Amino acid sequence: MNYKIALIPGDGIGPEVVAETVKVLEKVSQKYGHTFEYTEVLAGGCAIDATGACLPQETIDICKASDAVLLGAVGGWQWDTLPGDQRPERALLGLRKELGLFANLRPALLFDELADACPLKPEIVEGGLDLVVVRELTGGIYFGEKGFKDTDLGPAAYDVEQYAEEEVRRIAVVAFDMAMKRNKKVTSVDKANVLESSRLWRRVVAEVAKDYPEVALDNLYIDNATMQMVRYPKQFDVIVTSNIFGDILSDEASMITGSIGMLPSASLAKGNFGMYEPVHGSAPDIAKQNKANPMATILSGAMMLRYTFGLSEEAEAIEAAVKQILAEGYRTPDIYTDGKKAIGTKEAGDLIAAAI
Ligand code: ATP
Ligand code: MG
Repeated sequence: MNYKIALIPGDGIGPEVVAETVKVLEKVSQKYGHTFEYTEVLAGGCAIDATGACLPQETIDICKASDAVLLGAVGGWQWDTLPGDQRPERALLGLRKELGLFANLRPALLFDELADACPLKPEIVEGGLDLVVVRELTGGIYFGEKGFKDTDLGPAAYDVEQYAEEEVRRIAVVAFDMAMKRNKKVTSVDKANVLESSRLWRRVVAEVAKDYPEVALDNLYIDNATMQMVRYPKQFDVIVTSNIFGDILSDEASMITGSIGMLPSASLAKGNFGMYEPVHGSAPDIAKQNKANPMATILSGAMMLRYTFGLSEEAEAIEAAVKQILAEGYRTPDIYTDGKKAIGTKEAGDLIAAAI
């Protein structure tokens, strides 16, 4: 089959980690006989420098004409003095809205080989950890009405948290579908004891659950969920939650794995379209030094094969290759420990490609 991929290398280490991912995808294409057709486009700081806009219309058009988008990272010190609405990071919000990416999937996977990187006690995570946070990405307080007004206590600012039933329903469906392919357990996280929008959330999730009688549904308040995440994270399999709670909870979950350089993510639209990117940012401090860990982006590429192209065997081949080089003792600087074999960005890509 022939698949069209829009590539957004972006800024900082973005181009380096995307290049290694393409290397790995090309190996997959040789081995399994697929054709990946890449179109490289600009977004973020490099787009500001080249065109004046962080998200040029051409980028949006090419992404829409592709089957999937693979993104490195955007942002960097050079653009930090720009006003908030002109920053490179705005490109991400723009892409989510323009491409209708309402579901953000962030697996937190603790590789057995990296267990020593986990900040929790070994007995808590014994046997590894494998959970996924399904975060609503285009609604809630980040996109609700914002403004200023005068109050009894003087000038004030506000942001509105609002969810339509349909927004909750479609994200819940993504979570339950995923649970069916995993361990048939969903934990919905909200703050239904104080928020009206959370009470609606809880009611709609319960309605969706009726269509999945095999899946067990739990509800947790966000404050309890953040606590449980470090107390006993193995109780979780699929977590579904709102935009803001998911932002916080998925960062917390990622820290349990101890290595930001290992974590992939997917942002999905209706149908199979998706944008895939590492959880980490542009890491300008290590850019162009062959130090970045490309595995988060390579694993994002695996998610792209699985979720958008339906190529599970190929996705598993990439994941197995990553595990293999870790088991062989290779480590990029972010996960290096004494006695291991230090490698750079390019060597990591070469080794993973070879392992496939
Ligand atoms: P953003 O706002 O884009 O999330 P950030 O500054 O919060 O950016 P990162 O860019 O992810 O965070 O970087 C945080 C730290 O983690 C940096 O010191 C960076 O060097 C390190 N880091 C991030 N990604 C990687 C990677 N792939 N490999 C190695 N180190 C990384
Ligand atoms: Mg950050």
